[in-house]
Amino acid sequence: MMYNARMTLTRFCAKRAPQLGVLDGNKIYPLDLELGETEGVEVVLGGGNDAAAAALARARTSGNPIAADSVQLLAPVPKPSKIFGVGLNYADHVAESGLERPEVPAVFAKFPSAVAGPGDPIYSPLISDKTDYEGELCIVIGRGGRRIPVERAFEAIGGYMITNDVSVRDWQLKNQHWSLGKSFDSHSPTGPWLTLTGDVDPSNLTLRTWVNDELRQSSNTRNLIFGSAELVAHLSLFCTLLPGDLIATGTPGGVGAAMDPPRYLAPGDEVRIEIEGLGTLANPVVAETEDGGSVSPAASNRSLV
Ligand code: ZN
Repeated sequence: MMYNARMTLTRFCAKRAPQLGVLDGNKIYPLDLELGETEGVEVVLGGGNDAAAAALARARTSGNPIAADSVQLLAPVPKPSKIFGVGLNYADHVAESGLERPEVPAVFAKFPSAVAGPGDPIYSPLISDKTDYEGELCIVIGRGGRRIPVERAFEAIGGYMITNDVSVRDWQLKNQHWSLGKSFDSHSPTGPWLTLTGDVDPSNLTLRTWVNDELRQSSNTRNLIFGSAELVAHLSLFCTLLPGDLIATGTPGGVGAAMDPPRYLAPGDEVRIEIEGLGTLANPVVAETEDGGSVSPAASNRSLV
């Protein structure tokens, strides 16, 4: 496996339509394909990693780049069929939560309608003041499959990006299952782009989260209890992993709920997550309004207009 020149695939808005392109420095080389409004990087990743790398290489040599700062970057996968979250997957976060280290991955669901993109608002809900951040490495499924052996898991993974597993703590914990508290509209910011499998070693990446300019989380994916290959093998035991499915791999210590006293997100805050080699995902926290205008930007495609 190679970990050198990074191939990054971005979904962006040009002329009010989403498009895919290769991001190289401050240039984007558009891919020559028609993209539906709800389609994303899975269109390229589903054919397998060799085909994806070839498509990106072709785009990069075909010329006609556009300036990256002239377009808006969008959620790489606007409508995943599934988003898995993995709880308690860093030892320090297990300790700060006062819970036992799990024997098997503690998997929960996040509803796909929660997806948001880079720069999109994280809505602070009307019904809670306990919204929290969780900076995480996100696996994006490429070819996918069922019953994937752990030693072949990287063939099924299309790439990696950053996600914020935003969590509404009272709704998370007052239910028997976590999914409601993890699935508020706009609470799955993703991006800022995708880095292909083979261009990054997911088992050794520094991860840091800031709220405004205060460093809250600082760890490395080498501290994951269950790594990327193990998670893919485990999840594919019971269902088919499809191109574009997302796996939020878990967050390290330092979440707001574990501080004394707890420090939750408030409108006006900005959460910024940086993972080595994958870029920086930044999202402002904005108060939800009563007019129903606070739906997930990616799910509504509102970010396209
Ligand atoms: Zn999480």
